[in-house]
Amino acid sequence: MIDSAAPASPATDTAADTADAPVAKPWIMGIAPYVPGRATADDGRRIVKLSSNENPFGTSPAARDAYRSAADHLERYPDAAAADLRAAIAAHYGIEAERIVYGTGSDEVLHLAAGTFAGVGDEIIYVRYGFAVYDIATRRVGATPVVADDRDYATDVDAILAAVTPRTRVVFVANPNNPTGTYTDRGEIARLHAGLPRDVLLVLDQAYTEYLDADDDDGGLDLARTQPNVLVTRTFSKIFGLASERVGWGYGAPALIDAMHRIRAPFAFGIGAGLAAIAALGDDDFVEQSRDHNRKWRDWFAAEIAQLGNAGLRVVPSKANFSLVLFEGEVTAESAYQALMAAGYATRWLPNQGLPHALRITIGAEADMRGVVAVLRDLAGAAI
Ligand SMILES: *Cc1c(COP(=O)(O)O)cnc(C)c1O
Repeated sequence: MIDSAAPASPATDTAADTADAPVAKPWIMGIAPYVPGRATADDGRRIVKLSSNENPFGTSPAARDAYRSAADHLERYPDAAAADLRAAIAAHYGIEAERIVYGTGSDEVLHLAAGTFAGVGDEIIYVRYGFAVYDIATRRVGATPVVADDRDYATDVDAILAAVTPRTRVVFVANPNNPTGTYTDRGEIARLHAGLPRDVLLVLDQAYTEYLDADDDDGGLDLARTQPNVLVTRTFSKIFGLASERVGWGYGAPALIDAMHRIRAPFAFGIGAGLAAIAALGDDDFVEQSRDHNRKWRDWFAAEIAQLGNAGLRVVPSKANFSLVLFEGEVTAESAYQALMAAGYATRWLPNQGLPHALRITIGAEADMRGVVAVLRDLAGAAI
C-alpha cells in the first residue's frame, strides 16, 4: 500500500544460492528504506500530490528557460567545482563562495556531514520526529542513532543537550522541522550551539527557511560564518521548485568544507540543473509569490482544522510549506488518508516515523486546500 524507494527484492531460487554471496554490513541492513511521497492512487490514477512538499506554482519561468538552454550539450560533464553556482549563492546570501559545498540535493550534503565526521562507534543525535534521511545517513556510516525526545512535536533543546555523550559527533536539526513544521527560534538555536562540545558538528538543515517570515532568522548562517562546528544546509527543491534537478548546498568553516569535498560525488548535478538553480535564485518575485501564497493558505488551513477540534483534529503550528494534522479522536489518520486518496489527494501518512496518528499535508493550490478541508470536514462531521 505504501511505495518504497527500494525496488522489490528479486526472488532467490534457493537458500543455497546466497550461502556464499557477499554480505551486507549489518548496519546497512538495519536501515529501513526511505518511503517517498506518492504521486498515483492504488489504481494508477494520477492525483493531486500533497505528499512531498513541492511548490504548487512549479518553478520560476526563468529557471525553466535556463534549463532548456543546456539541452544542446548533454555530452559534456558539468563543472566539477560548480563555480558559477557557488558565486551566485555567495552573492545572493552575502557569504563566501569558498565555504560552500554542494551535493545531489541537500540529502547528499547531509550524508557528507555524517560520513565525514562520524563512523562506527560514534553517535549522531536527532529529534524524535525528525527528517527521515538523518536515520539513514547515520546508519549508513555505521554510527549509532540517538533520538532526543520532542516537546509536543517540537525540537527540545534540553533533550538534545541531555543526549550528548563523549561519543557524540554530529547533531542534525531541521529548522523548520520536517515532518512537524515546528520552528526553533534564534535564542534556542544559540543556546543549543553554546551547550554542545566544540568538537560536535551542529548541522542546521534549512530546507524550508525561505518560507519563514522576514523577521524569523534562526541565526544559522551567522553561526556557520563564525563558528568552527556549524554547517547550514539549503536546497533548491522546495521554494525554488527544482526538486527534480537535485541541487543542494552547505555552508560552514573552511576546514569542514574542505573535508566534505573529499568524499562528495565529483559531478553532483547536471549542467541544466546548475543553470536552472542560478536563474531561480535571481527570481525574487517567484519566491515572494510562493511564500505569500503559502502563508495565507497555511494559516487558513490551520483555522479550518481548529474548527474540527471536537472531532479530535489538531494541527501542529507550522512555519513550513506543510502542516502536520494530528488525529486524536474517533477519526483515524489512516481513514483520513484513504478518504483523501479516494477524493484524489495524496498526503503523507507516517506510521513508519512514529506518527500513525498524523498526516503531513503540503500546502497546495487554493482549490486543493479547499478540497482537502471539505473531505476532512465530512469525516469529522460523520464522527461527531
Ligand atoms: C526536502 C528536505 C530536504 C531536501 O532534500 P533535497 O535532497 O535537497 O531535495 C532536506 N531536509 C529536509 C528536512 C527536507 O524536508
